[in-house]
Amino acid sequence: MSFAAVNPVNGQTIANIPAWDEVQLNDALAQVAEVTPPWMALSMAERCAFVKKAGQVLRDNRDEYANLISQEMGKLIGEARAEIEKCALVCDYYAEHGPEFLQDEVIESDAGKSYVAHLPLGTVLAVMPWNFPFWQVFRFAAPALVAGNTALLKHASNVPQCALAIEDVFHKAGLPDGVFRTLMIRAAQVKQVIEDPRVQAVTLTGSEPAGRSVAETAGRCLKKSLLELGGSDAFIVLEDADLDEAVQVAVQSRFLNAGQSCIAAKRFIIVDAIAEDFLTRFKAAVEVLRAGDPLDENTSLAPMARADLRDELHQQVSDSIVSGALALTGCGPIKGKGAYYKASILDRVEPGMRAYQEELFGPVAIVIHARDEEDALQIANDSRFGLGGSVWTRDSSRGERLARRLQSGASFVNGLVKSDPRLPFGGVKHSGYGRELSHHGIKEFVNAKTIWIK
Ligand code: NAP
Repeated sequence: MSFAAVNPVNGQTIANIPAWDEVQLNDALAQVAEVTPPWMALSMAERCAFVKKAGQVLRDNRDEYANLISQEMGKLIGEARAEIEKCALVCDYYAEHGPEFLQDEVIESDAGKSYVAHLPLGTVLAVMPWNFPFWQVFRFAAPALVAGNTALLKHASNVPQCALAIEDVFHKAGLPDGVFRTLMIRAAQVKQVIEDPRVQAVTLTGSEPAGRSVAETAGRCLKKSLLELGGSDAFIVLEDADLDEAVQVAVQSRFLNAGQSCIAAKRFIIVDAIAEDFLTRFKAAVEVLRAGDPLDENTSLAPMARADLRDELHQQVSDSIVSGALALTGCGPIKGKGAYYKASILDRVEPGMRAYQEELFGPVAIVIHARDEEDALQIANDSRFGLGGSVWTRDSSRGERLARRLQSGASFVNGLVKSDPRLPFGGVKHSGYGRELSHHGIKEFVNAKTIWIK
């Protein structure tokens, strides 16, 4: 058994990485158990220096890692370079701010002295997806390592070279062997790793079924878990929106990474008064996107990461069209080699259709028409997901009022929904629980321990 890296541009296998047997997995678990106490015993400043160095390694090898991302999952090369730079940024951020986030918190009580200390939990397993193959890992790893935890990575099967390259970043940064390990294991083995007494917690970024499975095991084992799952973010355009800006960001938000982002705008909820105007402009801007080689700087639409994901997306689109949705543009695979799908807009999406209820993880914008602001909000909240969302209006206090009523982990007014190391990131409802990034993220995998001294 091995993990095949297949270039989505042409379907060619570019690498085959052998999967581990039980002995190799057990050796890695034994190693991490051995190195965890000395890693925890280092000063925070020492751990921060390693994480800062990892950021430097990323910057020094940016183009090599970016190429690897593009070849394994098809991301446009410019976006891949930006991903590596963002990973370096999150390393810097936690190396700089981690000590202040985790400093002892003195609390007056009946004690002579009482405070909360933020101590590491131990070893955290991270189960990660392929869509931002470096970023998803680093936004977990930087704070977890600074806090004094050790980390195990089970990466997505289709990005095995990225998985190994990430381990190598930490090796090059001089981390003691075993403090960050990539496990070359299958999804079916995740349960066994969570159950292992040498592992204290688990975080998963991925789909609802994977989240459910990991949470079930963690719950049964009474271990801490964090889930970052899917989303179907609303992009609400009100009648007083700046349509030029809204259209430009709509295209960026939906088609970046070939639409394969958890916080991509997925449901465009447009009030009737400006629907025709918005859709005319949106369609024109979408039709300019050009599919091509992701390594070519002029390409604006990347392939999807895998042909099976492209086919699954097309099934969701086709089923919705059968139920009455309208293909405004695109809505089909691009003929020829590679996992390409046309930049698409699916209009007149209504309750009961697959596109209304499910997450569409690819370059397809769904349009839902709303009578007015209240109707738009009701539609936006009529989703089992709650990751991000945005509101477009020239009246920012109106936007803010609406943003607060959106059922989501983040709501943006007149801006692209994005992650930022300084701001917490995560979801409500079926989009998961817990937070990454900011001071909230680094406190997910610590023991907030009360110390009471008479
Ligand atoms: P996925 O199939 O759930 O895979 C994610 C990871 O989970 C992979 O490492 C996968 O391993 C593993 N996995 C799959 N089934 C598992 C199971 N039953 N038990 C344990 N591990 C399991 O998700 P995907 O299709 O790769 O990624 C897309 C999804 O992730 C979308 O829903 C997207 O919205 C979501 N996502 C969320 C965020 C966020 O921050 N909230 C960010 C990015 C993506 P294998 O590859 O070996 O199957």
